[in-house]
Amino acid sequence: MYDTIIIGSGPAGMTAGMYASRREMKTLIIGKEPGGQMVWAHEIENYPGVKRISAFELVQIFREQVLSFGVEMKDAEVKKVEKTETGSFKVYYDNEMAEARTIIISIGLSPRRLAIKGEEEFNGKGVSYCANCDGPFFRGKKVAVVGSGNSAFDAAEVLSKIASEVYLLVRNEDSIRAFDSLVAEIKKRSNIHLRLNTVIEEIAGENKVERINCANIKENTKEVIDLDGVFVEIGRIASADLFADFVERTEAGRIIVDNQCATKTPGVFAAGDVTDLSEFKQISIATGQATIAALSAYKYLQGK
Ligand SMILES: Cc1cc2nc3c(=O)[nH]c(=O)nc-3n(C[C@H](O)[C@H](O)[C@H](O)COP(=O)(O)OP(=O)(O)OC[C@H]3O[C@@H](n4cnc5c(N)ncnc54)[C@H](O)[C@@H]3O)c2cc1C
Repeated sequence: MYDTIIIGSGPAGMTAGMYASRREMKTLIIGKEPGGQMVWAHEIENYPGVKRISAFELVQIFREQVLSFGVEMKDAEVKKVEKTETGSFKVYYDNEMAEARTIIISIGLSPRRLAIKGEEEFNGKGVSYCANCDGPFFRGKKVAVVGSGNSAFDAAEVLSKIASEVYLLVRNEDSIRAFDSLVAEIKKRSNIHLRLNTVIEEIAGENKVERINCANIKENTKEVIDLDGVFVEIGRIASADLFADFVERTEAGRIIVDNQCATKTPGVFAAGDVTDLSEFKQISIATGQATIAALSAYKYLQGK
């Protein structure tokens, strides 16, 4: 029996692990992609106390630190959680089950899908949701980036140094949410072709991505672009259906917590991007919430 099982091994999950184990709680972290969204970042310059660090290195430091505290970590996906009659929780992952007195949900956010023809079929065969992870596979090739926020513009900027041509497809020119400085930088790059008011209607090819069909919704025109990859950067969503019985959620699917990071179910806490606590999504915010969640879980067990 663990004192706590932490679901998700991004910065929130690993921080919760550190704080729980420092309180002598028997702790297990189960996470499917260690590092979480941090691995999608290129360099991190705003994590307090660290001037500038590659995201890969920061993930390694988090992981080494949490393991050095004696926390157990499993790289796996949690498929089901059940509450037992005694108030503990059974957490199912791979073909195994682990039980704990408390759980801390830190599953972060996942990429939003375009939901168009070809997206699912070519996922991993030219369709990607992470420019920093998959960009190097497109050296000297033609790619498109879909989106209008910082992630999309940042992806286009990174890819312009790797790919030969980058098409940046922005649905609505008034919806650009990227920083002005980033937009200005993108406009300077000769191999980035900004397509405003453009939607992607289909991703097509034989066994891999070969072209996209686009439409300019302002001018009512169509365009077919031959290319090798499509990077979807249209935001991230919370996928907390697994915990529907234990937590209340906002319309956007974020888990509602109080200022102790507690959910409506005693013993169930949540932290990081998946919660509704902050509209801002940053590592420092996720780690701060995780600190609260772990200490609240400890206090809850003390109370019992
Ligand atoms: C491209 C990009 C660049 C960024 N740059 C910065 C930056 O420079 N500075 C900054 O402060 N922030 C940055 N961020 C934001 C920052 O990465 C996030 O705010 C932070 O990672 C959130 O941490 P988290 O632990 O709450 O969630 P996540 O990092 O999303 O981690 C959640 C983890 O849970 C796992 N998981 C989900 N479901 C399950 C399940 N059922 N079972 C097991 N595991 C599961 C996920 O796979 C993931 O590994 C960036 C984000 C992106 C996408």
